[in-house]
Amino acid sequence: MSLYFDSNATTQVHPRVVDAMMPYLTGLWHNPSSGYRAGREVKAAIEKAREQVASLIGANPEEIVFTGCGTESNSMVIKSLAREIGRKSSKVVVSEIEHSAVLRPTEAMAAVGFDVEKVGVHEDGRLDLDQFSEAVDSSKPGFASLMWANNETGVVQPIAEAAEAAKAAGWWVHTDAIQAVGKVPVRVDQVAVDFLSISGHKFHATKGVGALFIRRDTPFEPMIRGGGQESGHRSGTENVPYLVGLGEAAAIMQEEAENGGLDRVAALRDRLETGLGERLNRVEFNGSREHRTGNVAHVSFPGKVAAEMLPQLDAAGLQCSAGSACMTGKNQPSHVQKAMGFSDEKAFSSLRLSLSIFTTEAEVDEAIEILANVLG
Ligand code: PLP
Repeated sequence: MSLYFDSNATTQVHPRVVDAMMPYLTGLWHNPSSGYRAGREVKAAIEKAREQVASLIGANPEEIVFTGCGTESNSMVIKSLAREIGRKSSKVVVSEIEHSAVLRPTEAMAAVGFDVEKVGVHEDGRLDLDQFSEAVDSSKPGFASLMWANNETGVVQPIAEAAEAAKAAGWWVHTDAIQAVGKVPVRVDQVAVDFLSISGHKFHATKGVGALFIRRDTPFEPMIRGGGQESGHRSGTENVPYLVGLGEAAAIMQEEAENGGLDRVAALRDRLETGLGERLNRVEFNGSREHRTGNVAHVSFPGKVAAEMLPQLDAAGLQCSAGSACMTGKNQPSHVQKAMGFSDEKAFSSLRLSLSIFTTEAEVDEAIEILANVLG
């Protein structure tokens, strides 16, 4: 059995999530909009899930809209905000290190004439707040979309400070918190964002389910119209088992945060980095040491090439991913590493090792052994 160190790509569905979902795949398969008892029971399960997700991020349940995935949550916000601010004399600011689920929709806006500015990051992968504040233009309607934590490096962004600057300019603020929720405290009662995107499969729910926080009284233009489900914000008969699973996963992550589970993951990540530092002569750890999720080690192995390392590691029993995206079969430095100022050589030599609450000490030790044998 291979060791799984790619939890930022997706996570194992938690057995408790599977158990919570099962009744809604079998006996309770009814339509939540139906007025009879089974329908009402199913509806109640959705509302419980909404409370669980809201509780994890400090929101009110009515501020949570269930979606089909994190990408959908991001697109819903960006399309709504594009309408809200209008194309003429408005401005949009994103960072250079956003996920494609923010970059592509905002690039599509730029293609039809919106003014979209990309702001850079420092060498440690954190947003350049000065550049960001300069880019935000209070004389124009606008919005900023900034990720809470980066998917490649795990670096946590100064989202509270950035949101404050954008709100002071009268702008709307969206955060893609897909790699932060369940990994670091994410509280919408403490950070002034208007919208926040969540994806279930990054914290032990299934793929194909997400959520969007929309702060109370914030204007929102639905992308999907129909029967008026999800308060009219996202019509379509609800995927009840998946929503119930997302709620259960949120409850699990809240428990993990409260009982030290996330600190345990961070300690394992530190053990991994220490082990690699001891066993390999040439190894570099990337991104802010201080501001990062506890589950990611972003590591460069100078002189090595990820495209060659990955199949060797896979064959030796370790699943992880390159720090650089493989595009059309040709290794390209990722836009994130470029933004951090990495040389192509350094970017090509980087791996992302990402852990989860299921990772064990024995697995970390075995992973160190495999990496040392294959790359040493
Ligand atoms: N945003 C970030 C930062 C991500 O890491 C991902 C998934 O890799 C997404 C968005 C897309 O989420 P989903 O896979 O639920 O569409």
